[in-house]
Amino acid sequence: MALDRLLELVERLGALLRSYGNRRTGGLQPVHLLALHYLSRCNRYSNTPGALAAYLGATRGTTSQSLDVLEWRGLVRRTSDSQDGRVVRLHLTAQGRRLLDRERRRLLTQLEQWERVRAQDLDTAEKVLEGLLRHLQRANNYRTFGLCRTCRHLLREGPGKFRCGLTLEPLTQAETGQICHEHEYPAAQAAP
Ligand code: SF4
Repeated sequence: MALDRLLELVERLGALLRSYGNRRTGGLQPVHLLALHYLSRCNRYSNTPGALAAYLGATRGTTSQSLDVLEWRGLVRRTSDSQDGRVVRLHLTAQGRRLLDRERRRLLTQLEQWERVRAQDLDTAEKVLEGLLRHLQRANNYRTFGLCRTCRHLLREGPGKFRCGLTLEPLTQAETGQICHEHEYPAAQAAP
């Protein structure tokens, strides 16, 4: 498949998902759902307005407006960091998690009705799209926001024992499955 056709399909899918989000979420914009999704996936170093803005590719001002909407609706809560009061931490509320789960379940239910896709084709599609995303992130100097367990800074100290090589703090197994704004792929994986 030519690359321009692949890009066209990605853009069409993006537009479709955005319009789907507009219809489904009673006034919330797709970017609000993306923000909720990010907060449900990110680790404890990455739940700040700045990291969220970088993930969304938006300005801090625009992100702050989105957070005002989400906070006003009771979907997100802002707190001060316990170590450094100048740092704002963002938390998904129980209501925010319920709304996010409901919206993603609706979309996944629709996708599951698509019976023609084979598991091996899905694996291939995932590899190709992930490779494309990584290439564009690298070419544009964007943060990768990958899974902690694929990060070059992750130290494996024993069975089930992990530490972040940047902060030197221990990490739980569950945290290695979260996304991080400091994430970097190992050099060998930089060009899939
Ligand atoms: S090991 Fe990498 S991804 Fe994991 S917390 Fe540290 S910097 Fe973030």
